[in-house]
Amino acid sequence: MNWDFGRNDIQSFKQSILIICMIEQDKQKLLQQLLEKHKAGQLKPADRYNIPSQPMPEQDPNERAHNVNEVALGYTETQARLEALRCLGCKNAPCVEGCPVRIKIKDFVAAVSEGYYKKALDIIKENSLLPAVCGRVCPQEVQCQQACTVGKKFKDPTKAVSIGRLERFVADLPAVHSGQAGHDSENDSIPAVASETGMKVAVIGSGPGGIVTAADTRRAGHNVTIFEAFHKTGGVMVYGIPEFRLPKAIVQKEIDTLRKMGVKIVCNFIVGRTRSVAQLMNEDGFDAVYIGVGAGLPSFMGIEGESLIGVYSANEYLTRANLMKAYDFGKGADTPIALSKKVAVVGGGNVAMDSARTAVRLGADKVYLVYRRTEKEMPARIEEVHHAKEEGVEFHILQSPKRIISDENSRVTAIECLKYRLGEPDESGRRRPIPIEGSQFRIDVDTVIIAIGNLANPLIRQTTPGLEFNKWGNIVVDENCKTSMEGVYAGGDIVLGAATVILAMGQGRIAAAAINKYLAEKLKHHKQGL
Ligand SMILES: Cc1cc2nc3c(=O)[nH]c(=O)nc-3n(C[C@H](O)[C@H](O)[C@H](O)COP(=O)(O)OP(=O)(O)OC[C@H]3O[C@@H](n4cnc5c(N)ncnc54)[C@H](O)[C@@H]3O)c2cc1C
Ligand code: SF4
Repeated sequence: MNWDFGRNDIQSFKQSILIICMIEQDKQKLLQQLLEKHKAGQLKPADRYNIPSQPMPEQDPNERAHNVNEVALGYTETQARLEALRCLGCKNAPCVEGCPVRIKIKDFVAAVSEGYYKKALDIIKENSLLPAVCGRVCPQEVQCQQACTVGKKFKDPTKAVSIGRLERFVADLPAVHSGQAGHDSENDSIPAVASETGMKVAVIGSGPGGIVTAADTRRAGHNVTIFEAFHKTGGVMVYGIPEFRLPKAIVQKEIDTLRKMGVKIVCNFIVGRTRSVAQLMNEDGFDAVYIGVGAGLPSFMGIEGESLIGVYSANEYLTRANLMKAYDFGKGADTPIALSKKVAVVGGGNVAMDSARTAVRLGADKVYLVYRRTEKEMPARIEEVHHAKEEGVEFHILQSPKRIISDENSRVTAIECLKYRLGEPDESGRRRPIPIEGSQFRIDVDTVIIAIGNLANPLIRQTTPGLEFNKWGNIVVDENCKTSMEGVYAGGDIVLGAATVILAMGQGRIAAAAINKYLAEKLKHHKQGL
């Protein structure tokens, strides 16, 4: 498949740039007027409500369906400042309550409106170590932006101050806008590391939780090693979330920063196989361990035909496409993937959207998203649903496969589905899908991707006696992310079940603080010769 721009693409790109430049001039004029009013202390809430909400510039759907480049292109400086001026600076800042790591949103947004971008980034970094990631993938519409007064005024969370887009804007500044704008210069420095304590910390898993734990414990001067099962670091941010939503270079930059801080990274190392947690602690001299192995075990539906050729778990499909670059198979990449023409993706979350949009980019003519509730109940971000539809994914709601059908060679040829209706809400609070008897019908497909959720991988449980797990196989921790084992902490999806990047990061931060405290006590005892 061709991942390069053609001649027509370049022509339409040039035209788009011309239109953007014209619009940009109008926006600049508006910004100047507003800034003057703001400086004179005359910018009233009514003026702020009248500032148009700034849309995210995006690649054209027809173009982006044929490449893996990032869909959202990021705000211009003018857009960012206009958007930031929409913020009312509410006294109680309800947006902060909506943020899982309590970023001082009001303050960073005010700094953006005034053009102090480094200050804005510093404010964010007090609470979040990965702003370029979170600005892109956090579900702001159900967190900070859901609580935003401006969104409430318009009775529409999509009209709230676009906090995530502003976070992304300042986070991208060092790389993209350095020296071009703002009243301060770029900040791409390496966090300071305290003098060596001689204490050793093992971080198992290099997802967002592991990255934050490693950074925060290293900052305290500990000798930190990350052990990662894959050949590449970054966790789901690298093997799951596709390049077109989260460029891998952004995650790589964070990993590079860890290395520069002195964190050791050991890949192709499966804890529970290469070494056990007990061996790391008792034989390899680690004083504390953080377990951040995520929830990488895909769930299946338990229906007939799930082991046929052409059925993938979303994890496998996305890992082949993202991490192993299967789209370049035969042109430098070693991992193949089915060249599907008709794909059914089962599920309604972000993972399902990512799979469907990846199938589009891999050249499928038809991609069906089959979901047994309605769009309202879909756990996927509204933005992802919108993007998937724009890219041609067909939504089959209130439907679910009953069995997968094959030819004589065990290759998938179709799914037999049942239609559903919604009943009363179940324990999840969402209305229960009820199958309609006799409603079966077939959809012809050659590939089925199951994206109905992930569970904890049982490996750590099977190989770590003494570690307490709940009935779903997640590690039990206290409010400091401390497990039932002395010196062992855990966080992220292995504790929370499949959750979010920001929640994993938040737990990494809590765990690191607890580990630092634990090791400080241990050091004190050592010094006292106890
Ligand atoms: C396709 C997809 C899309 C998503 N989209 C979003 C989104 O848009 N926004 C959002 O906020 N969240 C999203 N999520 C969820 C989010 O990515 C996770 O909640 C988050 O990455 C969990 O972080 P973590 O630190 O717990 O570990 P993970 O990111 O799961 O990383 C765990 C790491 O541990 C390694 N590991 C596992 N077992 C071992 C072992 N035994 N030894 C050594 N290493 C091991 C794994 O290889 C992996 O690298 C998505 C998830 C998926 C799968
Ligand atoms: S709730 Fe919205 S308007 Fe109020 S401070 Fe937060 S971002 Fe600004």
